[in-house]
Amino acid sequence: MTMRNETVTIAGAGLVGSLLALMLARQGYRVQVFERRPDMRSIAISAGRSINLALSTRGWKALAAAGIDDAIRAEAIPMKGRMIHSTAGELTFQPYGRENQAIYSVSRGGLNMTLMDQAEALPNVSFHFRHRCLDADLETAAATFLNEGSGKTHQVRADYLIGADGAFSAVRGRMQFMDRFDYSQSYLAHGYKELLIPAAPDGGWLIDKNALHIWPRGQFMLIALPNPDGSFTCTLFFPFEGDPSFASIDSSESLQRFFRQTFPDALALMPSLNDDYFRNPTSSLVTVRCSPWVANDKVALIGDAAHAIVPFYGQGMNAGFEDCSVLLDCLAEHEHRWADALEAYQGLRIDNANAIADLALRNFVEMRDLVADPHFLLRKKIEKKINLLYPNTFLPVYSIVSFSHLPYGQALQESRLQDKFLVELMNIPDIEQAVDSPAFEERIRTMIKEYEPAAASA
Ligand SMILES: Cc1cc2nc3c(=O)[nH]c(=O)nc-3n(C[C@H](O)[C@H](O)[C@H](O)COP(=O)(O)OP(=O)(O)OC[C@H]3O[C@@H](n4cnc5c(N)ncnc54)[C@H](O)[C@@H]3O)c2cc1C
Repeated sequence: MTMRNETVTIAGAGLVGSLLALMLARQGYRVQVFERRPDMRSIAISAGRSINLALSTRGWKALAAAGIDDAIRAEAIPMKGRMIHSTAGELTFQPYGRENQAIYSVSRGGLNMTLMDQAEALPNVSFHFRHRCLDADLETAAATFLNEGSGKTHQVRADYLIGADGAFSAVRGRMQFMDRFDYSQSYLAHGYKELLIPAAPDGGWLIDKNALHIWPRGQFMLIALPNPDGSFTCTLFFPFEGDPSFASIDSSESLQRFFRQTFPDALALMPSLNDDYFRNPTSSLVTVRCSPWVANDKVALIGDAAHAIVPFYGQGMNAGFEDCSVLLDCLAEHEHRWADALEAYQGLRIDNANAIADLALRNFVEMRDLVADPHFLLRKKIEKKINLLYPNTFLPVYSIVSFSHLPYGQALQESRLQDKFLVELMNIPDIEQAVDSPAFEERIRTMIKEYEPAAASA
C-alpha cells in the first residue's frame, strides 16, 4: 500500500463510516474517525440481545472490495424467502429469488466491530470515541468535536471531511445552511420496537432459521430475523396512535390479550414479551432526502447522513455500503482527484438513493398487508411465470434490488412498468382460471414484444 499525504476526517463510526475508513485507508489515505458513542467493543453487550439486519448483494460487493466478506459470511445466516404466519398459525413460504439466492441475517454490532477492528489494524487509521461532531467548516473541511469525556471542544483539520454521522447528521446540518440546499424529512405514523424469540433449550432455532418471518396484519406487522445463537430478533412495526397502537397497548393485560388475538403462534415463543415491550424503546421511522451531497469539493455525505430510508426493503445499510463502493470506484476512475470523484459520486448516487427511498416506502404496504392478500399472491404467481418465460426481459423488482447491482433508479422504473403490465393481465376476466391456459401465455407473448424493460438496457 502506498501512503498518501492527504488526510480524511470521518464523522461517525457506524456501519458506513467504519467501512469507508477501512476502504480509504487501504488506498493509503490517513483517516481519523470520530464517533459520538463510546467504543462498542469495550462495552459488554447485554446477554441474549442481538440486533440484526439483512445484508444483500450490494452490501456483499462492498465487503468483498474491503476484503472482509469471508469473515462476515462465517456468521451470516441465509434467509431464502419470507415465511408468512397467518393468524391461525398457518405457514406459507415465498422464496425471494432463485434456488441459490438469499439475503443474509447479520449482527449489526458484530459487523460494526469487525469493520472497526479491520480498519484499526491499519497504521493509517485512528478512531476517537465519545467525540461528538458539533460543526463543520465547509470551506476548509475542518470539523469541531466535543470530547464528551473532558468536556472540551477542538477542531480537526484535514483535506476532506465525510459526514457518515447518520440520519441526524451534524455535517449535513451545517450543509443545510448552504444556498439552494434541498432537504426533506418525513416520518411514518408507525414506529418500531424490538422483541425477542429466544433459542430453544438445546440452542437450536424454534422456527425455520433460513427465512425472514413475517406476521402481516394489514396496518401493522411483526417480523423476525435469525441470530447465530438460536434466537430471533423480532421487530413490531406498529402505529404510534389509534387502536391498536403503541399508545393503546399500555399494560401487561392489553399486551397479552393483543398478542393472543393477533400473533398467537409468536406469543407462545416469547416468554420475555412483557419485559421486552415495556423496557425497549419505541423508535420512529424517518425518510431523509437531500441534495447536494458535496460541498466545495472537499466535504461529502454518505450512508444515512445522505439518505435515511425506512427499513422495509432491507436496503439502508446496503445502499450505504454501495455508496462506499461507488465513491472508491470514482476515486480510482478520476485518479484520486477528489473534486472530480466527488462530483461523479453524487451524480451517480442521489437519484438512486431517492429511488430506493420510494421503493422502501412502497414495500411497507406489501409486507404488512399484501403478502397475505390472494389477489397479490396471484399477481406474484403471474410475475414468476413471466420471469420464467422471459428471464432476461422481465426481472422481478425484488431481485433487481436485492440480487443485482443495477441502479435502484432502474428498479423503480421497472416497478412502474411492471405495475402497468400486470394490471392489464390481472384485468383479464376470470383470471384465476385463465392464468394456466395457453391463451394466457399467448397474451403475454404479444405484450412482451411491446415491453421495454429499464433493467435490460443497463
Ligand atoms: C429497524 C431498522 C431495521 C433495519 N434493517 C436493515 C436491513 O435489514 N438491511 C439494511 O441494509 N439496512 C437496514 N436498516 C438501515 C440501517 O440500519 C442503516 O441504513 C445503517 O445503519 C446506516 O449506517 P450509517 O453508518 O450511515 O448510519 P448509522 O448506523 O446511524 O451510524 C452513524 C454513526 O454516527 C454516529 N454519530 C451520530 N451523530 C454524530 C455526531 N454528531 N458526531 C459523531 N458521531 C455521530 C452514531 O453514533 C453512529 O455510530 C434498518 C434500520 C432500522 C431502523
